[in-house]
Formats: sequence, structure tokens, C-alpha cells
Amino acid sequence: MATDTASKPKRVNLRRPDIMEQVKAQVMTHYRSDLVDRLRTKGKVTCPIGKITIKLAKEFGFCYGVERCIDLAYAALKVFPDKKLYILGEIIHNPEVNDQIRDMGIGFLSGPNKVADIDDLTQDDVVIIPAFGTEVSIREKLESKGCQFVDTTCGDVMSVWKRVRTYAKENVTSIIHGKASHEETMATSSQAIAKNGHYLVVNTFEETDIVCNYIINGGDKTSFLRRFEGSHSEGFNPDIHLKAVGVANQTTMMRGETEEVQRRIRAAIEERYGTVNVDAHFRFFDTICGATQDRQDALAKMLKKPMDLLLVIGGYNSSNTSHLAEMGESILPTYFIKNAGEINGLESIRHWNQHSSKAEETKKWLPEKSVTVGLTAGASCPNNLIEDVICRLLELRGSSAEEFLRS
Ligand code: SF4
Repeated sequence: MATDTASKPKRVNLRRPDIMEQVKAQVMTHYRSDLVDRLRTKGKVTCPIGKITIKLAKEFGFCYGVERCIDLAYAALKVFPDKKLYILGEIIHNPEVNDQIRDMGIGFLSGPNKVADIDDLTQDDVVIIPAFGTEVSIREKLESKGCQFVDTTCGDVMSVWKRVRTYAKENVTSIIHGKASHEETMATSSQAIAKNGHYLVVNTFEETDIVCNYIINGGDKTSFLRRFEGSHSEGFNPDIHLKAVGVANQTTMMRGETEEVQRRIRAAIEERYGTVNVDAHFRFFDTICGATQDRQDALAKMLKKPMDLLLVIGGYNSSNTSHLAEMGESILPTYFIKNAGEINGLESIRHWNQHSSKAEETKKWLPEKSVTVGLTAGASCPNNLIEDVICRLLELRGSSAEEFLRS
């Protein structure tokens, strides 16, 4: 067992050309789809048999951060064939990809499939940090064990960390628009504490308004802290720590919502301290990542054209996917499904209701007439799962992948 004085592991280059060549080939086998590539090129395909048109958003599926993370995990298996490999938690928010990673021999250190505790690890072990990053305290613990890291933290997540650390150094409290229990937000929050700063996570406009009201009018500290239990730093005191605030966001939020959160907080600061003093009390930096933005923009564009329904494919705990579903819901019948298995048939589809956090079933979901179905997928959804959904749709309309490819 390694001790707290374990020596620092040496840096290992995982991106050797010979390794990456093998990785690319394996990743293609696991996640690629010719059918999806074809649809990506054409934008939409109409199958006369079955009278179905399938449209795909211009940007969808795996983002650069997820691709890099998967590449590095696969590379680690090849570079460290004789070592035990672990991952801190889900590699991405997609059950199929997590199963794949587990089947390849990477053990989970948290969640239902946990195989070991960080305390059990030694300097002979390799630990993969997922694209969401990890909390500073966990990283320090792994360092003290001397474990070899494979750090796949996305650069866009690290930009948020940088911003939050800057706020902390300037005695500005970070107000993080995100979900307090999301891995990325937990990692981001920990960056504020590491620099002796404070943070408060808000997820909804209702929560934002509570914060705004406290900024303007003050209030009952105890009930405020109770309302935000689990979403603020230790020792957070709203009477002190809401005097100078900086807004940052989880990278996968909806841009319009994040802008509204910062607008409301800025307005509250203006009301409390006066317009001329805003700069002394308020900071804002848009930290939504490019991939999230591209997927939201592409869907917004697709939604301007007529469609009968939208299928959004991705893991139910995926933040960016749930925002895509939210966009669709406001315009047309939208079904958020994790894979083709959720399509029971013409009779019913099981889909995720993110507002009740429950799976629901909708009957007679696919109109019998000639139909146009829009498709998009979150940043953690591989193309092979999108292909499965396309094939299922075609099958239900009496068509096939072969006909689709010919169309
Ligand atoms: S969704 Fe954005 S921040 Fe997250 S891994 Fe992908 S590119 Fe990086």
C-alpha cells in the first residue's frame, strides 16, 4: 500500500502515433455509423417506402471533449496493459459507453458498479479522471497515493475553473449556474474553496430570485442557508458573501437561461449598490462550451422548419442532452430517449420526463401519415446509438437501412 509520501508518478505520453492509430480503429468499431455519416452529409433523407423523412441536426453527438476523453481511456488500456485501471466515475453520461469501458477492464471508483475505494489504491494503479474533471480534494488524495493519472478533463471545464479561481483571489463569491450534484459543478465549486473563496450554486430562476432578493433586501440567514443546503461552500454567509459576486456556469447549460441568471443578479446588484458601483460588486463570464452552444444553435435552426416530432437521444443524466430536449418541448412533440430500446413500437415510446425525473410512456406517438422526424443527440451519445434509432424508425415504417442508404 502506498503511503502519503508516495513519489510523483512520471508523465507518460499516451498519444504516441502507434497507440493512437490502434485507438482510432477501435473507437470507430465501437461507436461509428456509416448510416449516420450518410445522413450527416445529406441533412435529411426521405424514404418513399414508409413515407418517412428523417432530419438530423447539423451538430449532434460526441463533442471534442468526449472524443478526447474516450481516446485517452482507450489509449491507457494499451499503454498500461499490466496495470489495474480505474475511473473516478462515469466516463461520460451514457450508459452504453460506460458499460463498454467497464467491459474493457476499467474499474469504477464510484456509483453502482464501484469496484474499489480510492483508499484501496496504490502507486501501481492508474486512475482516469473523466472529462468533467474532479474535485481538488480527490485529486490531492490520488496524488498522495502516487497513482498514475490519466487526466481527461476538458479544456473548456478548466477555463471555468480558472475563472472561479480568479473570483476567489479577488474575494468575489462564485455564483455557479448549474446543478450542485453534477460532477463538473462539484469540481468547479472545489476550485473556489481551494483558493479560500466561497461559492453558491443556483439551478433555477426561482433560486436565482431568492438570491437576488437577499442581495437587495437581506433576509433570514438561517432559512436562506437551509434553502441552499448542499449548494454552498462551508462557512458561506449570505450577509457577507453576496456583497461581491461573479457568475460562472456549468459548461452544458442553456445559454439563454445562463444569460438570464446573470442579468437578474446584475440587476439586483445595481438596485442594491447603484449602477456606478456595479463593477465593484459584480463579474460575469460566459463559460458555456462551444460544443454545447453548437448543438443548441443547430437544433434551434432545425426547429424553424416544419417537423412532426423530435427525438433527442442521450443519457438521462446528461445535462447538455436535457437542454436539447427542453428546446424541442417548447415547439413540438419531443421524446428524450436513451436508445432505440425505448421505442416499443408504433403503439408506444418510453421517454424521459426531465421535469418529473421519471420515465413516461406515450401511446400512438408516431403519426400514421407521411411523417418528418427530427433527430439530435447530446454530446455524450455515440453514433451507433443514433443509427439504432434510425433503423428502428425505418423498421416501424416498413422500410430498412438499405433503402435509406439508397434514397
Ligand atoms: S460538453 Fe463541452 S465541456 Fe463537456 S466535454 Fe464536451 S466540449 Fe468539454
